[in-house]
Amino acid sequence: MKKKIYVTKPFLPPLEEFISRVEKIWESGHLTNGGPQHQALETALAEYLNVPHVSLFNNGTIALITALQALEISGEVITTPFSFVATSNALVWHKNTPVFVDIEPETLNLDPSCIEAAITPKTSAIMPVHCYGNPCDMKAIETIAEKHKIKVIYDAAHAFAVEDLHGSVLTRGDISALSFHATKVFNTFEGGALVCKTPEMKSRIDSLKNFGIEDELTVSIAGINGKMSEINAAMGLTQLGYIDGAIEDRGRVDAAYRTALNGIRGVKVLGKPNQTVSNFAYFPILIDDNYPVSRDELYQRLREQDIMSRRYFYPLIPEFPMFKDLPSAREENLPVATKMAKRILCLPIYPGLDDEDLKRIVDVIKSPAEKVVNQATTVAAE
Ligand SMILES: *Cc1c(COP(=O)(O)O)cnc(C)c1O
Repeated sequence: MKKKIYVTKPFLPPLEEFISRVEKIWESGHLTNGGPQHQALETALAEYLNVPHVSLFNNGTIALITALQALEISGEVITTPFSFVATSNALVWHKNTPVFVDIEPETLNLDPSCIEAAITPKTSAIMPVHCYGNPCDMKAIETIAEKHKIKVIYDAAHAFAVEDLHGSVLTRGDISALSFHATKVFNTFEGGALVCKTPEMKSRIDSLKNFGIEDELTVSIAGINGKMSEINAAMGLTQLGYIDGAIEDRGRVDAAYRTALNGIRGVKVLGKPNQTVSNFAYFPILIDDNYPVSRDELYQRLREQDIMSRRYFYPLIPEFPMFKDLPSAREENLPVATKMAKRILCLPIYPGLDDEDLKRIVDVIKSPAEKVVNQATTVAAE
């Protein structure tokens, strides 16, 4: 039997290096609460990502909820329907109402031209996602936010180390949230972070993620436990030493796909507009009506060959039961997102995906296209 190819595979740095950091944790007896590994990772990440302040978290979802709390977001929050469900779940957990607006067909990110019509007196923030690491139209989004005096929190779970002409995309808006889940470009098993702009905001976030404790005798806000433990931070530090190589290898896979899939009828490879530095987190393609079989049929054919592609993001967030009755969840409100959710397919991409695996994947995608061409030539020859 052929080996199974998953859509992603966690990047694992050398085990010995991780173990030696674990030994340091044993020696210090410091397991969590901002220990030496945690402090070292915060500093190293701020430097690596070229951002002013990083606060580490136990996962990206708690980081998002804490960002909402840090900025005292209330009422309605404008967000994208085309994301992992955690984006809207965070809003619900913070008692905010998600207001979905449509996406752009080229980037699959929140369409700024749809935002203003969705703003009401209850709107207090916009929460866009840099989908697949493609930067949002941040200038347009932030101009609207300033005009209406509302906050911008970017769900940057896909955008680790992504840059545009102005540098890191993580420095834009009020706060950006990262995820270091095992399936993400940079992982700490589970983990996440918030990036903010001022030392005051960082200390507010750090207090919020630690039960709201300010000092031994003072707890002035109802915080949560969002702390990253030393073992996770040790993984992050170990991984950080190898992340450039890992991203470069993802870039090799990305480039190979782009060459191999070029010119297949009905297959559109999503571009990388507005990026000067990419992280190659995902490899999304769109299957349209010109392709001989449906997107779901292609997904199934890949599965039959033990290739696990994923339909990110399908179903759309507004289709889930906790969101479907919201007025903004109606299909008519989200025509582009609805169309794209039916076409999208993310192909396997991770460091170490070799040429043989790549050929297996590309052959399946090419084969129905070729069959139709052959049929057409047979008919023509008769
Ligand atoms: C992964 C992800 C999250 C959640 O992060 P966790 O660390 O798994 O909690 C949130 N938003 C998006 C867009 C994601 O891809």
